[in-house]
Amino acid sequence: MIKGLFIEGKVVTPKNTYTVQHPHTEEQVAEVADATEEEMQEAIDSAFKAFGKMKALSSGDRAEILNRAANLLEEEKEDFAQTIALEACKPITAARGEVDRSVQTLRFSGDEAKHIGGEYIPLDAAKGGEGRDAYTVHEPMGVVGAITPFNFPLNLVVHKVGPALAAGNTIIVKPAEQTPLSSLKLAELFTKAGLPNGAFNVIPGDGPKLGKVLLDDSRVQKISFTGSPVVGKLIKSQAGMKRVTLELGSNSALYIDESSKGSLEDIASKAVTGAFVYNGQVCISTQRIYVHESVFEAFKQSFVLNTKDVPFGDPLDDNTMVTSLINKKSQQRILEWINEAVESGAKLLTGGEAKANGILPTVLTDIKSTDKVSCQEIFGPVVIIQPVKNHEEALNLMNNSDFGLNAGIFTNNLQQALEMAHGLEVGQVLVNDIPTTRFDHMPYGGVKSSGYGHEGVKYAIKEMTRLKMISLNYRF
Ligand code: NAD
Repeated sequence: MIKGLFIEGKVVTPKNTYTVQHPHTEEQVAEVADATEEEMQEAIDSAFKAFGKMKALSSGDRAEILNRAANLLEEEKEDFAQTIALEACKPITAARGEVDRSVQTLRFSGDEAKHIGGEYIPLDAAKGGEGRDAYTVHEPMGVVGAITPFNFPLNLVVHKVGPALAAGNTIIVKPAEQTPLSSLKLAELFTKAGLPNGAFNVIPGDGPKLGKVLLDDSRVQKISFTGSPVVGKLIKSQAGMKRVTLELGSNSALYIDESSKGSLEDIASKAVTGAFVYNGQVCISTQRIYVHESVFEAFKQSFVLNTKDVPFGDPLDDNTMVTSLINKKSQQRILEWINEAVESGAKLLTGGEAKANGILPTVLTDIKSTDKVSCQEIFGPVVIIQPVKNHEEALNLMNNSDFGLNAGIFTNNLQQALEMAHGLEVGQVLVNDIPTTRFDHMPYGGVKSSGYGHEGVKYAIKEMTRLKMISLNYRF
């Protein structure tokens, strides 16, 4: 059956289609709408028209719709998890986790819808401002264009849809080519939850072609993009006066200091999860691990042992943690980067081989900071571990990166934790957690090439609203 476009609250038969294939079995998952520029234009017309209906809803009404959608998603959890597992080739346990998180993200959005408050401004602080009461309101912007990546095809869509609707906007989602199915299902679910028709449209298809329509149309007031830094930078350069949020990639680093001696096994087990969950195809995947030299050997042993136990297999198997990558091009690139590092002197501690359409969990050491596996985003099941003399060296290495999203530090030394927390050039510092840690209501955004602006429901709402000041002159 063909999965159509979603415009004006219903499924629309498309002019063209393309096939979504399961990356592990290479079987067809679905035949999906491959939208034309005209079809994207229809979605913009629909979202623009629906803005009036959204503006007419109270914040309480919007909260209710979001909460109803959360409840429906919870009821359909297994169905959504299976869809994610098939289109994104995500191990089913991780896919179920993604649905749970999406339910929460919707509930946070419902809560926040009721608390989009402004502030009182004492205008009489300025000479001539006496006799005025002034306050601010956060108004919805109108039509939001959302462009999303393959790796969290539900929760990262919800991170744009939830805040956009909470604020009273309408939205058009252009999902990743490989993973349009979860967002199409989500849109249907919102119609059942009572969202006005046209407030949430999904237009699958080619990124550059459909992205250009969103970017060129002045009715689209805001672009919210999650994806690779290359595309993010391109979008920003083409966005003109539109507001833009960019959530991009990283090569997240972790430091384990000498005071963590008693917890090395526990940290190694957590770090293995951080490095390999969903094949490392996570923007905050733990890619670089720096360990104090006094505990390096012990950590390395435990980390490599744990890595060898990581189960590789079919994504629909409950035990699988690593499976086929999203496509063969990724597999090829990652193998090339591993081989380049080894040829330039790196030591392969385990992995480094292809299996099915994936790669076995790989650990490298003796890396140069110029090796691609270190300085670029690997976005695969590969991690580097390196000894360091002290936390200053760790800090320098961690900051020696074009990226800056999450960083983790394990230490019992408060002074050191604070020094590093303030010195790290990243958006989020996690003390005594791996960098692969995100809760859906926390502020979340990158610095350097990792991004521009923030998500995390409350913070995304701020970036999807306009601040207006209203002054009342009572001495007139
Ligand atoms: P991608 O950049 O290839 O694609 C993302 C989206 O952009 C897709 O929908 C694609 O169709 C679209 N696109 C491609 N070219 C475009 C263009 N010229 N104009 C407009 N849209 C275009 O990314 P991907 O491979 O799907 O996802 C992986 C990347 O996403 C990684 O770099 C990862 O770190 C990043 N990511 C970041 C976060 C975060 O929150 N910071 C979260 C998840 C993924």
